[in-house]
Amino acid sequence: MGEVIEPSVNKKVSMLWPVLAVLTIAAAISGAAYLPTPVVDYFLKQDILDRSELWQRRITLHLRDTEATFRNGTTSPEENDFLSLLPEASDVYRFKLFTADGRVFWSTRSSDLGTINEKDYFTSIVSDGEIYYKHEPKPASEIDGLLLHSHNTAPDAIHEIAEVYVPMMQNGEFIGAIEFYTDITKVRTLFIQRVHTALIALSALAIIVVLLIGGLIVRSNRARLNALNSKSKSERALMDQQLHLAQEVKLLGELNEWLQSSRSLDELFEMFTKFMAYMLPDCAGSIYVYSNSRDVLDGVSAWNGGELKRHIHPDGCWGLRRGRTYTYGVHEVDFVCEHVDEEDGEPYFCFPILAHGETVGLMHLKKVAHADKEEFLESRKLAQMCAEQISMAIANVRMRDQLQEQSIRDPLTGLFNRRHMIDRLRHFLMTSSDKQQNTHLVYLDLDHFKRFNDTHGHDAGDYVLRAVGEILDESCTDDEIACRMGGEEFVVLWPRLTNEELQERITVLCSKISGLALTYQSQPLPKITASIGVATAPQHGELPQELLRAADEAMYQAKHNGRDQVIYYRTDQNPPLAEQSQPIVTSSTSDHEERNLKSASKRGTTEIAAE
Ligand code: GH3
Ligand code: MG
Ligand code: MG
Repeated sequence: MGEVIEPSVNKKVSMLWPVLAVLTIAAAISGAAYLPTPVVDYFLKQDILDRSELWQRRITLHLRDTEATFRNGTTSPEENDFLSLLPEASDVYRFKLFTADGRVFWSTRSSDLGTINEKDYFTSIVSDGEIYYKHEPKPASEIDGLLLHSHNTAPDAIHEIAEVYVPMMQNGEFIGAIEFYTDITKVRTLFIQRVHTALIALSALAIIVVLLIGGLIVRSNRARLNALNSKSKSERALMDQQLHLAQEVKLLGELNEWLQSSRSLDELFEMFTKFMAYMLPDCAGSIYVYSNSRDVLDGVSAWNGGELKRHIHPDGCWGLRRGRTYTYGVHEVDFVCEHVDEEDGEPYFCFPILAHGETVGLMHLKKVAHADKEEFLESRKLAQMCAEQISMAIANVRMRDQLQEQSIRDPLTGLFNRRHMIDRLRHFLMTSSDKQQNTHLVYLDLDHFKRFNDTHGHDAGDYVLRAVGEILDESCTDDEIACRMGGEEFVVLWPRLTNEELQERITVLCSKISGLALTYQSQPLPKITASIGVATAPQHGELPQELLRAADEAMYQAKHNGRDQVIYYRTDQNPPLAEQSQPIVTSSTSDHEERNLKSASKRGTTEIAAE
């Protein structure tokens, strides 16, 4: 997950630079105000120290014997003349010559002569051979010659005066000193102003630079912040998308699990409808499946207000016609499917539903009116996966149905097999006992079928078995079932019939079998006869095997009695069936040639009341 920049951080960054800028401005203003004077004074001092050496040299150059002059403290008249001219020819307005003990032996001011300088700086600094400089303000009246030349200068005006004591050394020995006075007011003021101006300019420049740098930093921070924020936004969006996907995958997994556990197509569609309504709330959907005739598709389920028609024609759907998902509403030229009524311009999808490579149906999804078009179109992928899920589930249910059908059907005749018959019989016996109803079991064995096979061939025998199967199947309605027990033996279960109805049905059945006129490979086949045993629950048994054995024994009794007849089972304990008197014997042929029956006693026919 990306770094999330809180707004307060941005605020701090933005606040920092104005503070720095204010500090810079304050520093610049105070620097411009207080810095020039000490700076200028420092440089002026250096300058005057340099110039004082020049002044000293000019004096000593005009002295005949410098050492003697200073050691003796005397000057010649020529020297006096030159010295008197020096203030005129230099910046020095006053100067004094000292002997080594500080006595003034020459000065531009005669009142200075003979005075002795005993100040510390003279005795300790100058006498040690070091130049001593001092600078102090003095009134204009103290400056020799100033008032003579300047009309603008008031006597009490304060001037900046620099005083320099230059030691006179001879072979490292202090022999005297010269003190110069010079007025630095003008130059100092001028320089202070210049430095002041320069500092103001520099400060302004510095402030501009600081503000620029600050602005740049704030700007780059803001840009970085925006970039980070947008990155974090896109990462958040990506994460939301991933969560959404995970949710979809989870729902798809759940849908798959539910669909796999469904037992019928109806249950399957019911589950699917619920999931689709939840997973794709912006889609109004419906499902159609091919009818058995495959000429139309039947509407089976709809959700979120999806329109469900009873039937639609496969040729009227572009998805079914083209064999792939059709999206309406995204291309410049589109054609509306026939099964979509309103041409309101709302986009829709048609997903063909395939099972094992065969198109078995159609899922139609249309955008609901209030939904966003882009979101609807984005849901195509998920919808496609849902369509695939339902396709697989339909295929599974169909395959399961097919396998189940195969497992309960006899492949030759298409009738149910023995196992299924037993299941149904058990069911009938349970329900009929609650409701005090009869369940009749009719056991039918074709007569001399081995001989028939031997005479006409096994295939012809199969043909006959199928024909008999059809008759038996036709004899059943509702939940009645006919089954092939194996070989040439069949069972029919007729629940809920009265004895009269039973006899009528048996009569119809026998006449249909006796009326069977078959030709196989252009050859007419002989008539078929059957021996039929009938038992009824609960009189002849309350369990499947009991009832089955009773009917089987009745059937063998029919064989024993000469075949081609119906025997109703009865016991000595129970009152007889069929009006409880004589069993009905129905014969369709007069052929009694074969009477070699298997011993009925072996099968316990003692319980059978033969005619
Ligand atoms: P009965 O009148 O005593 O019942 O004599 P039957 O010959 O019908 O009885 P049997 O039990 O001796 O012989 C049954 C014959 O049924 C044997 C076999 O040739 C035939 N059969 C069994 N299953 C099939 C089948 O699937 N197809 C054909 N064509 N014949 C079969
Ligand atoms: Mg048999
Ligand atoms: Mg037989």
